[in-house]
Amino acid sequence: MVVVGAGVFGCAAAHMFASQGRAVMLLERWMNEPDRIVGELLQPGGVESLRKLGLESCVEGIDAIPCYGYHVVYHKEDVILPYPETEADGKVKVAVQRRGGARDYSESLNRAKRSTNGSANGSANGSARESDKSNQREEGRSFHHGRFIMKLRKACLNHPNITVVETEVTKMIKGEHSSEVLGVESVTIDKETRKKTPDYFFGQLTIIADGYGSKFREELTGKKPIARSKFYGLELIDCPLEPKGFGHVVIGNASPILLYQIGAHETRALFDVPLDEPAASAAAGGVRGYIQNVAVPALPAAVRPSVLAALADGRIPKSMPNSWLPPTAQAQRHRGVLLLGDAMNMRHPLTGGGMTVALHDVVILSELLHPDRVPNLGDADAVRDAMKVFHWRRKSLSSIINVMAQALYSLFAARDDRQLQILQRGCYDYFERGYTDEPLGMMSGILREPLVLASHFFTVAFLAIYLHGADICKGPLGYWKFPWVALEAVLILWRACVVFLPVCWTELR
Ligand SMILES: Cc1cc2nc3c(=O)[nH]c(=O)nc-3n(C[C@H](O)[C@H](O)[C@H](O)COP(=O)(O)OP(=O)(O)OC[C@H]3O[C@@H](n4cnc5c(N)ncnc54)[C@H](O)[C@@H]3O)c2cc1C
Repeated sequence: MVVVGAGVFGCAAAHMFASQGRAVMLLERWMNEPDRIVGELLQPGGVESLRKLGLESCVEGIDAIPCYGYHVVYHKEDVILPYPETEADGKVKVAVQRRGGARDYSESLNRAKRSTNGSANGSANGSARESDKSNQREEGRSFHHGRFIMKLRKACLNHPNITVVETEVTKMIKGEHSSEVLGVESVTIDKETRKKTPDYFFGQLTIIADGYGSKFREELTGKKPIARSKFYGLELIDCPLEPKGFGHVVIGNASPILLYQIGAHETRALFDVPLDEPAASAAAGGVRGYIQNVAVPALPAAVRPSVLAALADGRIPKSMPNSWLPPTAQAQRHRGVLLLGDAMNMRHPLTGGGMTVALHDVVILSELLHPDRVPNLGDADAVRDAMKVFHWRRKSLSSIINVMAQALYSLFAARDDRQLQILQRGCYDYFERGYTDEPLGMMSGILREPLVLASHFFTVAFLAIYLHGADICKGPLGYWKFPWVALEAVLILWRACVVFLPVCWTELR
């Protein structure tokens, strides 16, 4: 088979198929270590998939940092959301954290790390499960994306059934009398002479995983991603980020900001900037002006000097579009080819779920396209049947991560929309009340029950309505203002439906 793109999906898929005895050609346009601001926090569900694929060593020896959950800063308040505890069979234990309980947990975690490592940085390489068995919680990992990719590529280069070729794929090769894809055409550059020569690769099945800017997406699916904002990334050096071992989300006065440690000394800061953001217009100083004037004041005071130091080089920070692309069933209009990974499905990176979805997809394919079920990958009917099952089976994880990312982004990015701001406050209050195990279990890819997501989302909406109603009824006229409360309740509920239901609908197809 031919796999296009040695990114997260392509490497994991090539390695899995090769380990099942298939002969794989893995084609990548650029084999040097990628220097990108994407794919730096792997959720516990992704770590678990890596383990299932026999690739868990790829997060070792790269100065990866364990991640125990999230820390949300909302205006001047903050709350810690640890990943939930799990039972021995991986089932999520659900409990309501008492107020402050999560913070006690994070403090005891940091104390334990300081006493075992002699350092609070806690760069860890071993198992992705917290060692204290009485309190077993899954862990994520954050790292430099390029280092992780190079480990995945090394695993492929060392595999006897994989041939890795540095070449840029330009076209699919189709049969003369049908649209069946037989392989791909590419351009290879000679390292010494820099001469470009065409190359041709043929396989029983071609898998295209060429990422967010896929050259082949439109031809194969007819779809284009939608982006409402971009993430601009800075690398902060020795940033005093507390609590350690958590991904940090800053919401309220600026569009969401993410902060997470990616190495013993490096922290990634990602600033979401809406495409129509007036504070990022040329007249207002562009993106650098937005970061300095809007984002930096929203950050915890201890973090601000590191951000200003990273901005001091005067350059525009690296950026990436935050795309939304609902999944497409691989109906095999074009037999012989599959489009997968980010090329087929993307969601806002706010919740760091893309790699977890990609690795989980590979785990599902390892079962559905196993040589015992599909001995010959050239059997297009057998592949089509397997992909029909794939489309629905992946949803237990991918739909949750897709819908959650889009819905939370709408809530967390709200600065001018009154109803969304009310929902935002409701969401923060919900977390503060300690209802975090299931939401965090879903975000981290370990709890896979889409209906649980709907129940939490609408509970947040009703809590927001209740809090807002209570605010209105305070003060003069008290409960006489009930008609106003009822009207506001309808508007808030309507807004929640507008955020949640259209995204859900795209997942039901
Ligand atoms: C700003 C941002 C931050 C993110 N942060 C996170 C995060 O913290 N955690 C997370 O889980 N996900 C995150 N994601 C999403 C994650 O990066 C992607 O879901 C993941 O990288 C998808 O893997 P992929 O293999 O499909 O694509 P990629 O990893 O992009 O790989 C595609 C590969 O194909 C190669 N290629 C492209 N075209 C060709 C061609 N014509 N010929 C040959 N090779 C080609 C590319 O060079 C690349 O190596 C983030 C995304 C963005 C935009």
